[in-house]
Amino acid sequence: MILVMGGAGYIGSHTTKHLLDSGCEVVVADNLVYGHRQAVDARARFCHADLLDIFSLQTLFATYHIDAVVHFAAFAYVGESMADPAKYYANNVVGTINLLNVMQAFRVEKIVFSSTCATYGEPLHTPIDERHPQLPINPYGRSKLAVEQILEDYRRAYGLKYIALRYFNAAGCSADASMGESHTPETHLIPLVLKAITGERDVVKIFGTDYDTPDGTCIRDYIHVEDLALAHRLALEKLDSFSGCLNLGAGVGTSVREVIVAAENVSGQKCPVEYAPRREGDPAKLFADKRKAEEILGWKPRYTDMEDIIRTAWNWEKSRKF
Ligand code: UDP
Repeated sequence: MILVMGGAGYIGSHTTKHLLDSGCEVVVADNLVYGHRQAVDARARFCHADLLDIFSLQTLFATYHIDAVVHFAAFAYVGESMADPAKYYANNVVGTINLLNVMQAFRVEKIVFSSTCATYGEPLHTPIDERHPQLPINPYGRSKLAVEQILEDYRRAYGLKYIALRYFNAAGCSADASMGESHTPETHLIPLVLKAITGERDVVKIFGTDYDTPDGTCIRDYIHVEDLALAHRLALEKLDSFSGCLNLGAGVGTSVREVIVAAENVSGQKCPVEYAPRREGDPAKLFADKRKAEEILGWKPRYTDMEDIIRTAWNWEKSRKF
């Protein structure tokens, strides 16, 4: 059985569905602070657990025969991490150490970990490959980098088998619109653009139009959440022969303005925008060199067109259940 820690969140819930569709048995554990109980596929077992409650973790591992862990459970708001780093280091770092120690006690030796391109910090060059220096510029990125280093230490000392997946910008929703992205507060560009189009929000603010990019707005690498889900399953299958870190991105850069145009094309409606100053800590340009993930996992993103990605998010936005 696969344990999906944080399986009620955005990427975790899509990965749970993908694993179930592939024939795996899954138990989801989540503290439901940011996750949604309705996002958990009915075929999965569900267990309320918290990384900072070691007893809840021990109960989980004593109840289910767990072969491997996919670990999404983390706080992921950059701004909040600046204001309250203690919360981020406690949950993301101490919580993960608790999980690793309970795994060790129960002789579970395999983990796939959600890392992030935020561990690279301000890019020195693009595309960003895995050997790019890791100099995160906020506590969120530092908490994820700390875990990557802990995983490597546990591998060397205790034989832990791990793959840390460094996501670029997760985007889109399941093709059948049964689940999707739902954050409170919502800070991500694509859902905010779609909410401005539906009228749920008045406008979307474009954070900075004076970047050194072709249209002056920031460039990011948007990778479909179902492509991320697929990569997690492939990573689980690779743990016997590879441990290390892999970028997960589409390998293509898309600007904020291009995202807005794609959303207007998909919806057939105008998106009201407002120009706003740059958001602190936003690099001009981030996109992945994804060749290592393709090579090691035999993974290829299926969604390569921004409008196709946004179409899935738009279908969810119009029929969202949570
Ligand atoms: N962005 C924006 N307006 C918003 C939210 C985001 O212009 O209301 C920009 C942001 O500056 C970044 C890109 O959209 O360049 C993606 O931001 P998001 O928060 O979705 O992801 P991040 O890249 O911060 O992980």
